[in-house]
Amino acid sequence: MKPIQSELKAWMDKNENFKTNYTRIKKEILSDPSIQSFLREHPELTDHDIEKHLMRLYEYKSQSKQCDRCASYGECQNIIQGYSPLLSMDKNEIKLSYEKCHLRVEAEQQDAQQKLLQSLYMPKEILEAKMSEVIQDKSRIAAIGAILNFLEEAKTALPKKGLFLHGSFGVGKTYLLGAIANELKKHHYSSTLIYMPEFVREIKGSFKDDSFNEKIDFFKKADVLMLDDIGAELQSAWFRDEVLGSVLQYRMMEGLPVFFSSNFNLSELEKELASTRNGVEEVKAGRIIERIKQVSNIVEMTGKNRRDE
Ligand code: ADP
Ligand code: MG
Repeated sequence: MKPIQSELKAWMDKNENFKTNYTRIKKEILSDPSIQSFLREHPELTDHDIEKHLMRLYEYKSQSKQCDRCASYGECQNIIQGYSPLLSMDKNEIKLSYEKCHLRVEAEQQDAQQKLLQSLYMPKEILEAKMSEVIQDKSRIAAIGAILNFLEEAKTALPKKGLFLHGSFGVGKTYLLGAIANELKKHHYSSTLIYMPEFVREIKGSFKDDSFNEKIDFFKKADVLMLDDIGAELQSAWFRDEVLGSVLQYRMMEGLPVFFSSNFNLSELEKELASTRNGVEEVKAGRIIERIKQVSNIVEMTGKNRRDE
């Protein structure tokens, strides 16, 4: 049997068409500016070395390098999405390897940032709220001051207490929670922001399945927990004591902050918490209020209803 190389050569010699094509492709590859500059950096490469690795050079040429031909990560045209080819030399061998391209790195970073805000049932405008866009009128001075203090402290360590923002409907409480969560992302803290009625529904829905403990754990252990609109939905004594009470108890012990928004002040909330389907239970309600005070500082918000604007 003849060696395959000489077989191939003989075949190529016979096949003029292939030869012309091969020569044309080789010329195209070698005229590529990035390949030319690689060859200039490696004058030791002989024509034989180049021929031997022509397929690698061809692959290198055909791929987009560090996104030079792609408008976004989603439009990546490379063989391995998000990877950019690299040529190098290793003992007189031309090596082709791949590294992550910068659009992929950016997309991964954005993804990681996104995960820092776990939100359940929150409108888009709240998820995109920014501290820099919060209008600082008189009615917000106390709240904004307290928030800025929290954020300043968070630069070194997460404070043990969040805020209990209370005030009438539409003053911007939920909006501020969204803005805080977005600021905290910058310091790599994850916030879990949930609308209270949905929290109740979510937990009740999973009561009989395996995810119940997992879900409670998730709320217990989030870096920052934000309970939006705490109040009227708490007619279930079980939810108040076994879920809310135990989540707050855990966070109090561990020194993990909780933010609340509420249309009720603390004494109004205490009344709401006391009246469940079981009747009036002041002691149990008082216990929850005590825990709220342990995990947050109380701030009143006044001002007009911004929903009419
Ligand atoms: P609350 O939770 O106190 O009832 P929201 O936070 O839902 O009030 O705010 C009411 C409306 O005003 C929302 O549409 C919200 O996006 C808007 N809003 C509140 N605060 C601001 C702000 N500082 N800048 C821009 N829009 C705001
Ligand atoms: Mg709200």
